[in-house]
Amino acid sequence: MKQQSKKILVVEDEVKISEVVSSLLESKGFTVFCADDGKRALEIFKREQISLILLDLMLPGMSGEDICKTIRKISKVPIIMLTAKSEERNMIEGLNIGADDYITKPFSLKALYARVEAVLRRSNADLASIYQKNSFHQGDLEIDMESYLVKKKGEDVKLTPIEFRILVAFVKYPNKVFTRDELIMAAFGDEFEGYDRAVDSHIKNIRQKIEDDPKNPGYIATVHGIGYKFIGEADAS
Ligand code: CA
Repeated sequence: MKQQSKKILVVEDEVKISEVVSSLLESKGFTVFCADDGKRALEIFKREQISLILLDLMLPGMSGEDICKTIRKISKVPIIMLTAKSEERNMIEGLNIGADDYITKPFSLKALYARVEAVLRRSNADLASIYQKNSFHQGDLEIDMESYLVKKKGEDVKLTPIEFRILVAFVKYPNKVFTRDELIMAAFGDEFEGYDRAVDSHIKNIRQKIEDDPKNPGYIATVHGIGYKFIGEADAS
């Protein structure tokens, strides 16, 4: 991995934290940009090819949540939230608005670096899987992504184009927890004109077509308070 060339944006108004974090990341070979508010963060983000954002929540002016939402409208760049709030409620909120992970202050540099590596590894793997996987076969479910065919127990399953794209998005990111917004982005990019709760009814329809027991799904699981994830492990195919 060409880690040397990767750029990380640190958005943090506490100078001590941003200094310590940037010197750690620089010592690991990353190029680091620091911003102490949302306006500067967005300027840097639009100018540089950023591979990862470390984002403080409590900032002067624009909050970390708003910065995250703004960036998610234009990019899938991995975001790790740095938060002093330790309650699960805030963590779920962070993941709901599109953060990939979070770490609670005070954190050790070792723990932070482990998160950074894990999130970058996952985003590389996600990209690799998008380009490599054109078919999927697990249990009694088969999907051919090039010919748009889905089979269950050898029989054709008729999915609508929207349902097909949602299913393919899941299959490409096994075990990733998707918020509804993320699922829409992964399946449709910016083309989707529905509202995010419409995803629920598409999921319901997909489950009816591919699950043995739609009430007790073996492929698409509900993650309460967040969204959905695909729990099938893809066979090598
Ligand atoms: Ca702060």
